[in-house]
Amino acid sequence: MIKKLFKRVFGKKNKVRSHGSATVIPFDVHNVGREGVMHSARRVTDGLQAAGFKAFVVGGAVRDLLLGRQPKDFDVATDATPEEVRRVFRRSRIIGRRFRLVHVMFGEETVETSTFRRMIEAEDAQTDEHGRLLRDNEFGDQEQDAARRDFTANALFYDPTTQEIFDYHHGYEDIRANTLRMIGDPEVRYREDPVRMLRAVRLSAKLGMKLDEATAAPIFKMKGLLANVPEARMFDEMLKLLLSGHSLECVTKLREMDLHHGMLPMLDVILEQPLGEKFVTLALKNTDQRIREDKSTNPAFLFACLLWHEVLAAWQVKQDAGEKPIGALHEAMDEVLDRQRAQLAIPRRYDTIMKEMWLLQPRFEQRGGQRPMRLLGVPRFRAAYDFLLLRCESGELDIELGQWWGEFQDASEDRRAEMLMPDMEPKKKRRRKKKIDLSEVQAELPIN
Ligand code: ATP
Ligand code: MG
Repeated sequence: MIKKLFKRVFGKKNKVRSHGSATVIPFDVHNVGREGVMHSARRVTDGLQAAGFKAFVVGGAVRDLLLGRQPKDFDVATDATPEEVRRVFRRSRIIGRRFRLVHVMFGEETVETSTFRRMIEAEDAQTDEHGRLLRDNEFGDQEQDAARRDFTANALFYDPTTQEIFDYHHGYEDIRANTLRMIGDPEVRYREDPVRMLRAVRLSAKLGMKLDEATAAPIFKMKGLLANVPEARMFDEMLKLLLSGHSLECVTKLREMDLHHGMLPMLDVILEQPLGEKFVTLALKNTDQRIREDKSTNPAFLFACLLWHEVLAAWQVKQDAGEKPIGALHEAMDEVLDRQRAQLAIPRRYDTIMKEMWLLQPRFEQRGGQRPMRLLGVPRFRAAYDFLLLRCESGELDIELGQWWGEFQDASEDRRAEMLMPDMEPKKKRRRKKKIDLSEVQAELPIN
């Protein structure tokens, strides 16, 4: 056994070789060392191999390692069935009904382990009337598992034991040429799963890879197929895109390729207004920065940003019609959220935070009496303040307001007392005004 392992690790030639229809690329050529693989993923491949199975790190992780990037997660592919994987690792559980995967747990880390699967042949495939695959849950072999993947760069298998890469679709060359290329006929692959069009945009923007011409060409005429993708899946994909750390590039590219109607339908409206465009751009940049710095990001904050100028517009209309500011703001928020729910399927669980963010905004305008201190004590103060800064930076509000709050929150008691402005806020009744005058908005707003 040890002899066999020794031979596997050290006995390989350092030249590219063939294995069936795969090209096997040795460490000496690709230079990706096993130390780049997360420890838990190595334990999974080691454990499965020791039990006599094939096991590789696959997909995005291999691609990212070759590109010199830190992979987000390490997935493992194996010829062991989910039950067999379960038997090898005590701390594991089978998840998913459609295609069963195994989550193998090591402390905090979870390694998603999937059995090789194949694309179902055209004649047995269940598709909708547009050719979209409704299931793809047949087990297969390694070669078939490579073929069912989307891009050549995503279809590489890395064996941490031998440090070899198995490549069935020239993915290695494509990565070296910095090209994202669809496996097979792009039109057929987009029809099977239209989300691949969005993946093409997201991955090329995130990785700075160019889209191969034949891969990009059909997207324009096929983009309408995105309308058939279930809403929840679109939402998941949108989250991935917005939280990729490259949301600005992704959104820019989506617009270039005219794909944003399917994904972010509100974007057109918002970007038409100069302040809206600036605000959204700043919000995306800010999120990207936070993600790159490993800071927490709440998707609700970003959605609140994306929808803010719609809320502002609706709020204005209602006030112009003579409604009181706070009532109008509540109605505007509900109206915008309802409209977006139909298009974007933003789940309701995000509503509370988005509304808090919006409702706290007028309170920053009030700098007299006890109000600023009360606002500082609100649990979401920090996020609402970040939101305020974006509004200032985009030119919607005077930059001085953001600076004032920046100083006030860290100031000594004495300094705070100096900074407070005379409390001019009328306590109860107020006049109706035609234009939005944020300083007129009541101090105490309900948070939920
Ligand atoms: P990321 O860095 O964003 O995680 P990824 O390529 O790892 O990118 P995942 O969604 O984690 O993306 O998918 C893992 C792998 O599964 C991909 O690398 C690809 O091989 C395969 N895959 C994912 N989505 C599809 C799809 N829609 N069609 C075909 N293969 C897919
Ligand atoms: Mg991944």
